[in-house]
Amino acid sequence: MEEDLILIVEDEREIAELVRDYLEAEGFRSILAFDGLDGLNQFIEHQPAVAVLDVMLPKMDGIELCRRIRAESNIPIMIMSAKKSDTDKIIGLGIGADDYVTKPFSPGELVARIKAQLRRFKHLSVQKEPENIIRFPGFEINLKEYTVFSSGNQVELSAKEFQLLAFMASNKGQVFTKEQLLENVWGYQHVGDTNTITVYVRKLREKIEPDPSEPQYIKTVWGIGYKFDGESR
Ligand code: CA
Repeated sequence: MEEDLILIVEDEREIAELVRDYLEAEGFRSILAFDGLDGLNQFIEHQPAVAVLDVMLPKMDGIELCRRIRAESNIPIMIMSAKKSDTDKIIGLGIGADDYVTKPFSPGELVARIKAQLRRFKHLSVQKEPENIIRFPGFEINLKEYTVFSSGNQVELSAKEFQLLAFMASNKGQVFTKEQLLENVWGYQHVGDTNTITVYVRKLREKIEPDPSEPQYIKTVWGIGYKFDGESR
């Protein structure tokens, strides 16, 4: 992966070039693509550190492009959208976008958010270096291969489900509020969006808990939030 390389996919050239200029002033390099298909090709060819995607794009829209990139990679993906309601929906769709800005946005704010996502991403990457596999009785998370096994069976998780699980399991026993989980895993503070965590925890429990109604790994700490529990092996 090219550490300071940012992919910008935006069919309005003026916006794309403005974002590029701001990023270059901050020491980043960028690649521009003016339609979704070219965006995908540039992503595959250049392996950027961050992708910044417009939603309405010729040939392939930003949502499909986001899905395609997320299927291949865990890099931060930022969405630029014309409507606030769209962006809320996009984040809620679970297609793997990490953050968004609504047009018209301040390029300075976008750059600040890109930097925040990069810091979070590097932080998560550094955390996983010393130990790539987290093991509990009957349960295993491979942080390098992005796989999870429960009772010997591989569990299919979305990228965000995996990140949430890996974050909690890497901090076994520590209680997190929903806001803390949003901030650490999604990388943004979003008032009123803690329901996202409730939904993701429910989905994770259905996938990894032998009995989702009696969770033994992801425990609810009433009035506070959640913690990951489990006897280390
Ligand atoms: Ca557009």
